[in-house]
Amino acid sequence: MIVALDERLKLYSFQNHPFNNKRYEAFANSIKNLEGKIKITKGRKAKLKELLLFHSKEYIYFVKKKSKEGIGYLDCGDTPAFPGCYEATCYVVGTVLKIIEKMLKLNENGFVPVAGLHHAYKNKAAGFCIFNDVCIAINYLRKKYRIKKILYFDIDAHHGDGVFYSFLEDPDVYIVDFHQMPLYPGTGLEIEKGKGKAKKTKLNLVLKPFSTDFDFLRKLKRAEAFLKKIKAEFIIMQAGADCLKKDPLANLCLQNPHKFATELLKKYAKKWKCNIIALGGGGYNIKNCLKAWTSVIKNLI
Ligand SMILES: [Zn+2]
Repeated sequence: MIVALDERLKLYSFQNHPFNNKRYEAFANSIKNLEGKIKITKGRKAKLKELLLFHSKEYIYFVKKKSKEGIGYLDCGDTPAFPGCYEATCYVVGTVLKIIEKMLKLNENGFVPVAGLHHAYKNKAAGFCIFNDVCIAINYLRKKYRIKKILYFDIDAHHGDGVFYSFLEDPDVYIVDFHQMPLYPGTGLEIEKGKGKAKKTKLNLVLKPFSTDFDFLRKLKRAEAFLKKIKAEFIIMQAGADCLKKDPLANLCLQNPHKFATELLKKYAKKWKCNIIALGGGGYNIKNCLKAWTSVIKNLI
């Protein structure tokens, strides 16, 4: 099990904002308990050509410009620009790619705490997400490793719209996305199952506010029925902790979804002989982040 620890991940932090570097700090302190059982690895900065695997040149230059100015917003008001936000996001993306490289070399699972920026689109930032490390990772796996069939499994309280709609018509990207509805970004109806050739390769699982583990497990059965019909060569899990009870930005009341989801994914990873990278995603109650992420890591060891 490879875990990314790198102080530079702390740079991805908005001021006076729920997405800040305290999440990483708490994680880095708590992970010491697992030393000896995990391989700690430093991250790296993504290269421009890696960002271009998903984002447009115009958008990348816009982020670079805003990063130098360090003021205003990158979107309509959720994602502030700050000095060095370009470099900060490059560390998130580069770290995910480096962990993937190492995972494939050693045939192990991996975890990156500050990652899973699932709301960003090709041409725009959204919902605290500047560059979409998930979409870049999917295209990187394809280009560098010729890995075609990828499963993206997202249990963050928010719909992973940036990933979902970017691969809506791609039959080789399977998506299972649990999310609260109504909640930001307001997308992800269960009737949306992929388009054209990609019909039935996506599964949205909607949870009502105040849903419990009982509701989650019922939906997880539908996720398993979906997994039974597919075969992937790589699994990307977005393990956001905002689906847990007492998150300040969501209203779900889940207790152990990370354990349940990781156990299920592990079973299928074994069957398909592939690896899982888990990404920290959202989560704005720090205790919950630690609980969720530790549960994922312990299950993936
Ligand atoms: Zn979220």
